[in-house]
Amino acid sequence: MPELRQNIATKEWVIIATERAKRPEEFVLPPRPITEHRPDWEADCPFCPGNEELDLEVMRIPEDGPWQVRVVRNKYPALQREGERLRTFKGVQRQISGVGYHEVLIESPAHNTCPALQSPAEVSLILQAFKIRGREIAQDTRVEQLVWFKNHGERAGTSLAHPHTQLIGLPIVPYHIRARTEEARRYFDDTGHCAMCHMLSEELKDGQRLVAKSQHFAAFVPYAALSPFHIWILPRRHESSFLNATARELADLGEVLRLVLRKLYLGLKDPDYNYVVRSAPLLDPGSEYLHWYVTIVPRVTQSAGFELGSGMFINVALPESSAAFLRAVDETSIP
Ligand SMILES: [Zn+2]
Ligand SMILES: [Zn+2]
Repeated sequence: MPELRQNIATKEWVIIATERAKRPEEFVLPPRPITEHRPDWEADCPFCPGNEELDLEVMRIPEDGPWQVRVVRNKYPALQREGERLRTFKGVQRQISGVGYHEVLIESPAHNTCPALQSPAEVSLILQAFKIRGREIAQDTRVEQLVWFKNHGERAGTSLAHPHTQLIGLPIVPYHIRARTEEARRYFDDTGHCAMCHMLSEELKDGQRLVAKSQHFAAFVPYAALSPFHIWILPRRHESSFLNATARELADLGEVLRLVLRKLYLGLKDPDYNYVVRSAPLLDPGSEYLHWYVTIVPRVTQSAGFELGSGMFINVALPESSAAFLRAVDETSIP
C-alpha cells in the first residue's frame, strides 16, 4: 500500500508511491553530453578566463594572479543594491521596493567542471566565499534573508554551463521560510528540542537513509523526502546560521558535499540538480530552534498539477532505496 509520510521538522506530507516506485537506475535520463566532456574554455562564455567583466566584480580569490573563485554582481539582477527599502500599502496592494543583492559566484576558471569533479579543497573554497559574501551582505540592515543556491543543468533552471552558484539577499523573509521557522519554534516549544537535531540523531542511529557522514556533518535522504534522491546535509553541531559555520566545518562540508554530488554524478550520470543552503533569517540569530543545512534536489522527475493543487509531492522512489543506491556508488571510480 502507498504511504503518506510527514517530515517532523517542516510538517510537509508526501505520498511515497510504493506501488509505482521505480528502481534507482530508472532515474538515469537519456544520454547527453556530461560535464567533463564539454570544452574547458568557451570563447563566448562570460565566466571563462579572458572574458571577465571587471566592472561587475565584487571579489576574487586569490586577489592577485590567476583566480580560483570570483564573485560578480548578476548582470540582470532580480534586486537592486542601491535605494531605500520602502514599504507601502494601498488598499489590498502591499509593496516593498526591490532592494537587495543578487550575486554570482564563479566556482572555477574551468568551463567543464562541477563540484563532483573538483577537489574537496576547491569545494571548501567555494563555501568559504559564500560565507565571506554572506557576512558582508548581512551587515546591510535592509537585508533580512540570504539564499545561496546552485542550478546545475537546464532542468534545474540554468542556461549557463560554466560552474556557478548564486546568492540573493532579500529585503523580506519569504512565506515558505517564515512557515518553516514557525514550525521549528512550535516543535521546540512542545518538546524542548531542535527538530533537526532530533532528526539527525535518529537518522544516525537508524542508518537506512544515510548517504555519508563525517566528523561534523551527516548526509541522508529524509524519511519523508519529497522527490527521488532528495538529500539533506546537516551539521552535527546545533547552529542556526550558515554564517557561523567554522573554518573547520566548511573544510569538512567541502568533502561531504563533493562526495554526495560525486555519487549523484556517477550513479545517475551527471543529473541536473539544485542545491540550497538554508540558513536562519538574519533577524533570528543564535536561535535555539533553527538549524542550518544544505538541501540537494536532483531534477530527475517533474512536478505537475497535483503538486500545484495540493502543495504536496508524490515521490516515486523509496527514500531507503535512494540512499542504499547512493551508498553503493563507488566515488573513486573516476580520477
Ligand atoms: Zn566558461
Ligand atoms: Zn539543532
